[in-house]
Amino acid sequence: MIKQELLHEGKAKVLYKTQDKNLLISEFKDDLTAGNAAKKGNEKGKGILNCKISTQLFELLEKHGIKTHLVKMLNDNHQLIKKVDIIMIEVVVRNIATGSLTKRLGVEDGTVLPFALVEFYYKEDALNDPILNDEHCIMMDLVKSESDLKELKRLGREINSILKMFFVKRRLNLVDFKVEFGVDNRGNILLADEISPDSCRFWDMDTNEKLDKDVFRQNLGNVKVAYQEILNRVLK
Ligand code: UDP
Repeated sequence: MIKQELLHEGKAKVLYKTQDKNLLISEFKDDLTAGNAAKKGNEKGKGILNCKISTQLFELLEKHGIKTHLVKMLNDNHQLIKKVDIIMIEVVVRNIATGSLTKRLGVEDGTVLPFALVEFYYKEDALNDPILNDEHCIMMDLVKSESDLKELKRLGREINSILKMFFVKRRLNLVDFKVEFGVDNRGNILLADEISPDSCRFWDMDTNEKLDKDVFRQNLGNVKVAYQEILNRVLK
């Protein structure tokens, strides 16, 4: 499969068409952004690390019965994926309070939540990805029906259970993460986009060290060292 015309360039990936209208190639970029591009950076090799981490995690989720857009990894920073219509809702799942949740509700940073909290955000940079409730999602036509919202929540929780257990064994706390879904040409909801330290928070269970994009956002050290550590543990 070879790259044809560019279809879409996002903050972290570029999508290309292929000879097959149902398949795309996703190229993982080295670019990093924080706070909706308020801060930008570039770490050579970050794209390769995220492509490898995300491929491993999508394969893990597939093994546990979650349908994803991934066909296969083509090389270090390219995946072959199924074409889907992206649902414009970012599904965030949280196990520990931090980030925007603590700012918005005043919950103390680091509080272990009594259950996995699922939130929806509108995937719209121009509006700074505002939080949505179920009625907003329906009113904005972001999904077809309330049952799709239920399914997004169910999938978010299921993905969380699988990943949380996987990372506990690797001495990492999966603090929170964001996932995106798409609808394929047969109407199936597939996990899409990526799961990487760009979209998850990982805290070392022994040292509490942050090993994710917050290293970049908060200038805590070397981003690539942190992401490489995540890949090493994923591969353990
Ligand atoms: N997240 C993301 N993309 C976004 C917003 C959030 O991948 O556009 C991820 C983020 O990395 C974290 C989780 O979603 O793992 C929750 O983020 P939060 O709402 O706390 O916002 P933040 O503090 O990251 O701005």
